[in-house]
Amino acid sequence: MSKQTLSPAEPYFNPHVEALPKYNAGLSLAAARAVSGLERIARLASNENPYGCSPAVLEALANGAVELWRYSDPGCESLRAALGKRLGTEPENIVVGNGSEEMIAAASRAFLSAGCTALTVAPCFGLHEIEPLAVGARVTKVPMTADLDFDVAALEAALAQAPNILFLPTPWNPVGAALDHDGLARVIEATPATTMFVLDEAYREFVSDAVPDGLEMLRQARRPYVVLRTFSKAFGLAGLRVGYAVCSSSRIARMLAAAKTPFNVNAAAQAAAVAALDDEAWMRNSVAGITAERERMSKALRDLGLRVARSEGNFLFFDAARDSVQVAAALLKAGVVVKPWLEPNYQTFIRVSTGTTAENDQFLDALAAIVR
Ligand SMILES: *Cc1c(COP(=O)(O)O)cnc(C)c1O
Repeated sequence: MSKQTLSPAEPYFNPHVEALPKYNAGLSLAAARAVSGLERIARLASNENPYGCSPAVLEALANGAVELWRYSDPGCESLRAALGKRLGTEPENIVVGNGSEEMIAAASRAFLSAGCTALTVAPCFGLHEIEPLAVGARVTKVPMTADLDFDVAALEAALAQAPNILFLPTPWNPVGAALDHDGLARVIEATPATTMFVLDEAYREFVSDAVPDGLEMLRQARRPYVVLRTFSKAFGLAGLRVGYAVCSSSRIARMLAAAKTPFNVNAAAQAAAVAALDDEAWMRNSVAGITAERERMSKALRDLGLRVARSEGNFLFFDAARDSVQVAAALLKAGVVVKPWLEPNYQTFIRVSTGTTAENDQFLDALAAIVR
C-alpha cells in the first residue's frame, strides 16, 4: 500500500503523474523580452511556421463565421471528410485531436496500462515518453547512432522484446533525420503484430522525395497502426491545436475516440483546418521557403565547426560542444529563443527551428559570437 493511502491528512496523488518529467516547452515572448530586455525576439524553440498561416484560414474565422456560442461538432465531420478524401481513407478510421499530442495521450490510455511497455527513440519527443509513463507503463528508448541517425539494428533488437506500443517519429523530432524506404521497411517488418505501431509524421509535409509515405507503407503491411499528423507545423495552426490520427481500423479509431474528451477540438480549429487543407498552395510555398532556409542554416552551423544532424523537418539539431543550457541563456541575451536539450546524454545539443531569414540571421550571428 502506498504512503498516500495511509496518510489521512493528504489526498491520494497518482504516483505515475507525480513522478512525470516536465515537458520542456519553449520560452514565451513575454518571458524572452523580460529576460533579454529586447523587443525583437527570434522565437526558434517550438517549430512553428514563421510565415503564419494561409489567408484563407483568417477569412474562415472572420466576423462571426464560427458560432462560438455553440458546442463544436464532437465528430469533426467536415474535417474528417476532407481528410478522408485527401488521404484515401475512410473517415471512420480518422480521429481528430486537440493537437496530435492529444492523440499521443489517447493512444497511451487506449493501448497501455500499468505494467505495459512502450518503445521510442532517444533523444525523444517528450510526450512519447511522458504519456506512456502517465498511465504507468515502462519506456525504453533506443539511442541515435554516433552519426546522429536512426539505429535500425538496435530498433529491430528492441522490437523483438514485443513492446505493447512503438512511438516512432519520422522525421525525428528533435534530431531531424527521417527513415528511408529500406529503414522503415525493416522497422515495420521487425514490429510484432501484438505491438501497436504509432508512426508520428508531424513533419510529413517538409520531407524530400527520398522519404517514403509512412501511412502508405503501413497500409500495405496490413498490420495495426496509428499514423499521427498535424496542422501545427506546415499549415501554421499551432495556436489553434488541431492534429489527427489515421488508424488501420475503425475499431482502433473508436478506442482513440473513447480515450479523449467529447468536444476536444474547438469550432474555430475545425473551420480553420478545413480552410487550411483547401489552400495546399500556401502550405507548399511556405514549406519551400522553410526548407531552403534550413539548408542555409545547416551549412552556416557546419561552417562554425559544429556537428549538425541531417534534417527533413523545419528544425535543426546540433552539438554545441558545450553545456546547452548555458548556450541557450547566452542566445537569449541576444533575443534568440532555442531549445537546449535536457535529456541525459544529449545535454550539449540544441534544437533550433527554422524562422524567417532575419530571425535565422539573428540566431547565426549570436551563436557565432558565442562559439567562436
Ligand atoms: C509538434 C509535434 C507534435 C504535436 O503537435 P500538435 O501541435 O500537438 O499537433 C507531435 N509529434 C511531434 C513529433 C511533434 O514534433
